[in-house]
Amino acid sequence: MIIVLKQDITPKQKEDIKGLLKENGLIIKEIKGKEDTVLGAVGVNRMDPRQIELMDGVASVVPISKPYKLASRELKKEDTIVTVGGVKIGGNRVVMMAGPCAVESERQIMEIARIVRDAGAVILRGGAFKPRTSPYSFQGLGEEGLKYLRKAGDEYGMPVTTEVVSPRDVEMMAGYIDMFQIGARNMQNFELLKEVGKTGMPVLLKRGLSATIEEWLMAAEYLMANGTDQVVLCERGIRTYERATRNTLDCSAIPVVQKLTHLPVIGDPSHATGMRDLVSPMGLALVAAGASGLIVEVHNHPEKALSDGPQSLLPEQFEKLVRDVQALCPVVGKSLESVPRIMPKGMSADSSEQAAAEEMVVAFQGERGAYSELAVRNVFDDVKVLPCKTFHDAFEAVNRGSAKYGVLPIENTLGGTIGDNIDLLTRYPNITIVGEVQVRIIHNLIVNPGTRMEDVRTVYSHPQGLAQCKEFLEKELPDAKIVPFFDTAGSVEYIRQLGDKSLAAIAGTPAATYYGMDILRESIETNPRNYTRFFVLTREENAPVFRSANKPDRAAISFSVADRAGSLFDALEILRQYGLNMKKLESRPIAGRPWEFFFFAELDIPDIPTFEEAFALLRERTSGLKLLGYYKSAH
Ligand code: PEP
Ligand code: MN
Repeated sequence: MIIVLKQDITPKQKEDIKGLLKENGLIIKEIKGKEDTVLGAVGVNRMDPRQIELMDGVASVVPISKPYKLASRELKKEDTIVTVGGVKIGGNRVVMMAGPCAVESERQIMEIARIVRDAGAVILRGGAFKPRTSPYSFQGLGEEGLKYLRKAGDEYGMPVTTEVVSPRDVEMMAGYIDMFQIGARNMQNFELLKEVGKTGMPVLLKRGLSATIEEWLMAAEYLMANGTDQVVLCERGIRTYERATRNTLDCSAIPVVQKLTHLPVIGDPSHATGMRDLVSPMGLALVAAGASGLIVEVHNHPEKALSDGPQSLLPEQFEKLVRDVQALCPVVGKSLESVPRIMPKGMSADSSEQAAAEEMVVAFQGERGAYSELAVRNVFDDVKVLPCKTFHDAFEAVNRGSAKYGVLPIENTLGGTIGDNIDLLTRYPNITIVGEVQVRIIHNLIVNPGTRMEDVRTVYSHPQGLAQCKEFLEKELPDAKIVPFFDTAGSVEYIRQLGDKSLAAIAGTPAATYYGMDILRESIETNPRNYTRFFVLTREENAPVFRSANKPDRAAISFSVADRAGSLFDALEILRQYGLNMKKLESRPIAGRPWEFFFFAELDIPDIPTFEEAFALLRERTSGLKLLGYYKSAH
């Protein structure tokens, strides 16, 4: 049952409730949601719920209708974020896990770890105990394999996961790994689930070959009832009559499971298909279906692999898959989990750094719930946000140190460049670009709860939001008054304050959620291919960590050229010489010098030293050349 606590409950009242539940042999989980705090009480229940309902501090008692209780969305509305090493799984991230099917030798796992890390994997996989169909097949290196896996994970900065097949290995394995993997064949090995659950460690729970979704969630319940709340579900194909693929990938399980449970769910396209050429398309299908990540088998010599060679991706195929997943992420409102993203959070491994991370403030422009806040959340976890009225205020906040980072829009695919932010970048010499993030802009018609379409008389939003939803407004609300507002999320707050059912606002989903409003119509923009690109900014002194963790592949610069024929051409010639592909070139007026301009350019760079060489030459052919930052591209 779910016990919803009153907001003004005293600690003593809460202890009394917990005491009574414990006396009755129930397992208790306290869950602090955005609005309510609830106690989940599960176990063999002989209590009359009314006995609890009458206690001081209890608002209500609700039974959980599903057989799985701790895993159920009924108990916990918000997504669970599972932390493995420094990597977070769940919410709006997509996490790439990769490695060989089995650890075969120290050299093999070291090489593959480097390959998958460089391509963008953030968790390393590799089996040391292999549950093979035939007793004569390679069974894994056992504890020796775990040592190599750990070494490779440490060397390349990735947490590691591996399969556990026997309850007697659990304790030993816990010393080597960051996340247990329960294989498909063991999903209903309840003794194993109990032992693994007791460690409290993260668990990757594969779906059984013939398990229904309910059976799968019951297996998660076993883990949770025994002590871990860090469970990641993994769809890896089920056994059907179809023999064209190794298993049949059940993509629809992803959205179905997400409705039923708060636990993150990822996909394994390798075991689902059994064929190398199907792995990437099905991986993309899983991400499109809403998966929080992929676990993929990769091998540098798959023809010699001791297990699952035919389904292992070649290094270059994995690299392409990561790039394609990254391109798909904004479409599903997510970001690829990468090193820089976990970097600020990776600090949380150590408690003093945890404190630093807790103090970390990130500035953005707009009201709470704005698209810019979504961009912040796509880069950082659990940070305090500082909403700023103007772009200038956000730059000031970073410059003065009241925010460590700023996330500011630079370009929208429909509206074009946001010149103000380019100008500000050139005006703050201590502020540098360290990252880039892309957000898909989805506009919704947002109203006070209970409002119907026929009630709406006036629509508020930022002029851009109104313009981008023009077709919808003309067709669905031809008589409504259209009122421009300074901010999309701000317009939601405004109509909420008025509480009037004749009013609507156009803004993103986070604004509706943040202000507790209803979405009357979703995705009403005329052109759904609408993305905004943001830069992550910080003061120069904070940049090195971000940069070194992040292998930048872009640089942004600004410069002017002499007022004579061919001067821009002369400058660009250096870029050609060094093979630095220009992704953007924009001219901006120089304030106070009428009809004079500077250029802003973004360049693909192979590495920083090569770029620095070109930069030195560029200085000779330009004036006022500035480096605005290095970052890892997100588009
Ligand atoms: C594996 O991940 O190598 C594996 C054996 O997977 P599954 O349990 O899904 O077959
Ligand atoms: Mn395998």
